[in-house]
Amino acid sequence: MTDTATAVIENIDRYLAKRHPLLDSPEGFPREVVDQLHALGAFRVFIPPEHGGLYRRYSESLGLISTTAYHSLELSLMLGITSSLFLMPVARYAHPETRGRVLADFLDRRLLAGMMMTEPDYGTNIMGIQTSFRAEAGGYRVQGAKHWAGLSGVGDYWLVSARKARASGALGRDVDFFIVRADQPGYRFEQRYPAAGLTSISYGLTRFDVHVPADHKLCGPATDIRALYDILNRSRISIAAIAAGATRRLVDEAARWCADRVVFGKPLAAYEQAQHRLAAMQAAGTVCHAACAYAGALLDAHHAPELFIEMLTANIVKVTTTDLLQMAAQSGVQLRGGQGFRKDHYTGKAFTDSRPFQIFEGSNDVLYEAIAAQLIGEARKLGLGTLRATLAQHPGLPPPVLPADPLCDLPMATADSQVDRVLFGKLISRYAAIGIVQQVAATDRALRPELVASAIDYLRAECEGFQHERTTRFRARFIA
Ligand SMILES: Cc1cc2nc3c(=O)[nH]c(=O)nc-3n(C[C@H](O)[C@H](O)[C@H](O)COP(=O)(O)OP(=O)(O)OC[C@H]3O[C@@H](n4cnc5c(N)ncnc54)[C@H](O)[C@@H]3O)c2cc1C
Repeated sequence: MTDTATAVIENIDRYLAKRHPLLDSPEGFPREVVDQLHALGAFRVFIPPEHGGLYRRYSESLGLISTTAYHSLELSLMLGITSSLFLMPVARYAHPETRGRVLADFLDRRLLAGMMMTEPDYGTNIMGIQTSFRAEAGGYRVQGAKHWAGLSGVGDYWLVSARKARASGALGRDVDFFIVRADQPGYRFEQRYPAAGLTSISYGLTRFDVHVPADHKLCGPATDIRALYDILNRSRISIAAIAAGATRRLVDEAARWCADRVVFGKPLAAYEQAQHRLAAMQAAGTVCHAACAYAGALLDAHHAPELFIEMLTANIVKVTTTDLLQMAAQSGVQLRGGQGFRKDHYTGKAFTDSRPFQIFEGSNDVLYEAIAAQLIGEARKLGLGTLRATLAQHPGLPPPVLPADPLCDLPMATADSQVDRVLFGKLISRYAAIGIVQQVAATDRALRPELVASAIDYLRAECEGFQHERTTRFRARFIA
């Protein structure tokens, strides 16, 4: 059996490269692909060696996800769900004996797993969930309903979030996680949802009223809110790996298409507008590549639970990479014309499959507002006047080097409306992304100076666009 993560990644790259027609099937890829990933050791990359895995560094896990995303966006999401939302939280926070048992069972029986947070009435408001737990003989009773969890009806193990039911019947403020098996009594997958994309990953509604052994609660009997944020932030920032692999593929597909496709007697690549789209897609690829490398280095340096990474950094990386991924998919489709609208090609599938990345793991609209609100609050508290000075407070975000650029001196004045905060959050995120690209480019030879210059140019233009929109935006009201 292959015994390093690097070798596993190379084998998986080779295996997937030969199966693009299967991976691009409109019906989704068959289960045999998942079984083959298991056989090639993919899931061992996320599991510590003491439990039969090959995990050494978080960055290697991101390398596997990014490589997979190049071949299939949905397959990389499936790996991301099972790793960031189940295997790695279990490896970090489960009771040692449970951890060993569950991870061994997962590998032996070649299973799938995920996380259930979202409920029919509580999605963005994840702390408002109504799934409850209470102590009973030998453990806990967990009751509730969850929907939209990736791999619903297919996953064998789940991390289920719940709030403590107090004696009064009221629910506690904090959220805990429980390991629940899909084959246990009281677990019922009730309805499959006809999702608009990501067809290989099933979604739906699950209800449960289950007994969970005491040692199947993460973090022991106490609640550790830091674990919740650690899990969420790691998972959120890891999306950069999917965006990196997928944008790279979209650029390769678009560049090939534009070179070959002849319109009005000359290749599409000869037209300025096509070049403009290709350049924007390539800039997106550069930013996502840098964000993925940056996330890997950051996560490698944070081992202990008390060093959980800053939410601001995770939010900025998530919103920027998912928006750029969607932009690249939209441009990819536009450049392919009618052929871009096919469900049996990477580009056409990415058009729908990349869209929910802007919704799950924190809706981008909400995260942009949170980013702006946090920084505006800090600037006010610390008496800081400019964007540059305020961002420089955050060790998790390298400040951009933009000499004599008015962007750096942008005032941190209060944003008086939600729409303005969202726009300011977008601006802050792209500004912070410049710093990330510059820092990664200092040591990463894949980021050639021309690519870096073009990506920074693109991000700067986006910043200016958002600033312009803040002052000129459409202000009419919805008329009910
Ligand atoms: C493909 C896919 C995969 C998913 N995978 C998982 C999974 O594995 N596990 C899991 O638990 N869940 C998963 N989800 C669920 C996802 O996390 C939720 O859909 C998401 O959190 C949004 O919740 P909601 O659908 O209830 O929308 P709502 O909370 O109703 O929000 C709807 C929209 O309203 C807007 N909005 C919300 N609040 C505000 C606000 N304060 N201000 C302004 N606008 C706001 C946002 O634009 C948001 O997108 C998945 C969803 C999809 C589509």
